[in-house]
Amino acid sequence: MLLPGDPAPFEVVNAQGRSPCLIVCDHASPLIPGALGDMGLADGTRLEHIAWDIGAAVMARRLAQRLDAPAVLAGFSRLVIDCNRYLDDPALIVETSDTLAVPANRQLGDAERASRVAEIYRPYHNAIEDMLEAFEAADIVPFFISVHTMTPRMRGREQRREEFTLCWKLDDRVAHPLLSRLGERSDLIFGDNVPYGLEPEEDYTVPEHAMKRGLPHLQFEVRQDLVADEKGAHHWADLVYDLTADLVMSPDIRRIEHFWP
Ligand SMILES: [Zn+2]
Repeated sequence: MLLPGDPAPFEVVNAQGRSPCLIVCDHASPLIPGALGDMGLADGTRLEHIAWDIGAAVMARRLAQRLDAPAVLAGFSRLVIDCNRYLDDPALIVETSDTLAVPANRQLGDAERASRVAEIYRPYHNAIEDMLEAFEAADIVPFFISVHTMTPRMRGREQRREEFTLCWKLDDRVAHPLLSRLGERSDLIFGDNVPYGLEPEEDYTVPEHAMKRGLPHLQFEVRQDLVADEKGAHHWADLVYDLTADLVMSPDIRRIEHFWP
């Protein structure tokens, strides 16, 4: 399906980063392969939150720089295929997102589905696996960071209050100290698994790559209106850095410890 002129299915940023840490960004890009045209969507819709995590790629790049860590960014819109879903999840390729129809995903044939998996989904996840295997070969337990952003408002719903949400399950090595630090910050409104949590049956990337390996990990969401421009995205990436850098580097936390499955 991908043609010459299409972007790559993933991008590795700061591949030579020296920190024991890997950053990933599943919803980094709103891009659509040329062969899919506009997917039947209006111009504005293709840049909305349904297509990507606005601001997340800028945050991931900033964190990669601040931590001196490599980052793997997905190359295409989640409307083409959602790299944070299991292959058998109906949400892998959605026909509707936040009440909007995605015409190009209606009655998708098996061949078309298979080529999106083979050409976009698998290369991204293989790139993450390759990085993790390189850490393993060097006898390093990496800290795994998954960067997401969330819309301030789903259609027909209330405005969200949370500026930052920690998404976690079972493994409290990072969640516990970070929640206590967040609790001390009167200047920010944070959610503890609200409005989104980390669901091992639903989320794919952190459960598959980090939790199954027993790696310490951090998945978070920042509200998109706060990170829509570069200044905001850098500010919030810096805040995440300030709140977590010592945890990311801590040998006490960077140990293999299995909480799931
Ligand atoms: Zn996301």
